[in-house]
Amino acid sequence: MEVGGGEARTEVENKQIIFKGFIETTPTETDMELKLGNKIKLKAPKGSGSLLVKNLYLSCDPYMRGRMRENYDSYIPPFTPGSVIQGFSVSRVVDSDNPDFKPGDLIAGLMGWEEYSLIQKTEKLRKIQPDDIPLSYYVGLLGMPGFTAYAGFFEVCTPKKGENVFVSAASGAVGQLVGQLAKLHGCYVVGSAGTNQKVDLLKNKLGFDEALNYKEEPDLDIALKRYFPEGIDIYFDNVGGAMLDAALVNMRIHGRIAVCGMVSQQGRYDPHGVHNLFNLVVKRIRMQGFLQSDYLHLFPRFLEEVISLYKQGKIVYIEDMNEGLESAPAAFVGLFSGKNIGKQVIRVARE
Ligand code: NAP
Repeated sequence: MEVGGGEARTEVENKQIIFKGFIETTPTETDMELKLGNKIKLKAPKGSGSLLVKNLYLSCDPYMRGRMRENYDSYIPPFTPGSVIQGFSVSRVVDSDNPDFKPGDLIAGLMGWEEYSLIQKTEKLRKIQPDDIPLSYYVGLLGMPGFTAYAGFFEVCTPKKGENVFVSAASGAVGQLVGQLAKLHGCYVVGSAGTNQKVDLLKNKLGFDEALNYKEEPDLDIALKRYFPEGIDIYFDNVGGAMLDAALVNMRIHGRIAVCGMVSQQGRYDPHGVHNLFNLVVKRIRMQGFLQSDYLHLFPRFLEEVISLYKQGKIVYIEDMNEGLESAPAAFVGLFSGKNIGKQVIRVARE
């Protein structure tokens, strides 16, 4: 019987999103397909130690595009063609053969893009204590993207009060928290985004000092000089490419560049050549790539601090919520053209 589902059912249809095959370019909806007709028993098999969960919220994240490449030399293996796509999720335990979990528990971790998942490996799952915080935040503000912002800003950027901070893809899942943490740290903060609506959100909802629409700027170097006449101390880089080049010229002596991601370069045959690296030498800039997974020892501290800031009303979080598993491929593809306004989440089922 499905806990909280109202209806006693032992087997249900399990809609799934299947990864069709490896790609080289920017993903399209046709790289994934909805599979109907698959049945799943709402039972964790005895002796398996597994969990049968109902997926409530799925996360769309840019890194997943990397898993669609065949020869992906990275920290996480590629998806298997013909298999269900994997991603971060908030889920509810329906049945458990594992003493650490019971039906009704809420968990966050890597699940399939499907309505129900049978989870064999439970070590990396996190239990969520029900609270007055939206559950979907556990794939955003309080999940991997929020933690990326926290670890990247405090550990990699080593900020000081009063410093000038620039954030690209600033209204997205990671960027919006970086900017707010920087403001709370006493920094001057400017964000870039790809629409005027996002610029408005950055300035009027997320508390950035200034924001710019990079798609309307004929010269990014001149645009950054306008907002940073005295230069940038910290660049939190989510996009790479031409914006990185422009930021390099505008950095101050002993500036830091946290290379979080290069979403503008993903799926390009002809990556943008970075021309202004000599600035690293003359301005003694530290430019450091990082993965949030290297800082997981800080996760409990992050949760405690960010939950407290959220409850005090000191930070807000913008989500872009799509309804239904069917909407996941289009929502994921939309990340690469900036369709999402805030953290892109899919509501698969009502809580
Ligand atoms: P997001 O910002 O919520 O969504 C992606 C955004 O990227 C889009 O909304 C779009 O916003 C922007 N974008 C897309 N194509 C672009 C282009 N060609 N040029 C410039 N901007 C473009 O995504 P997120 O989850 O917060 O991730 C942000 C970055 O962090 C990504 O690079 C991701 O890979 C990286 N990341 C790294 C780690 C880590 O551990 N290092 C962890 C999580 C995420 P605009 O409207 O502003 O164009």
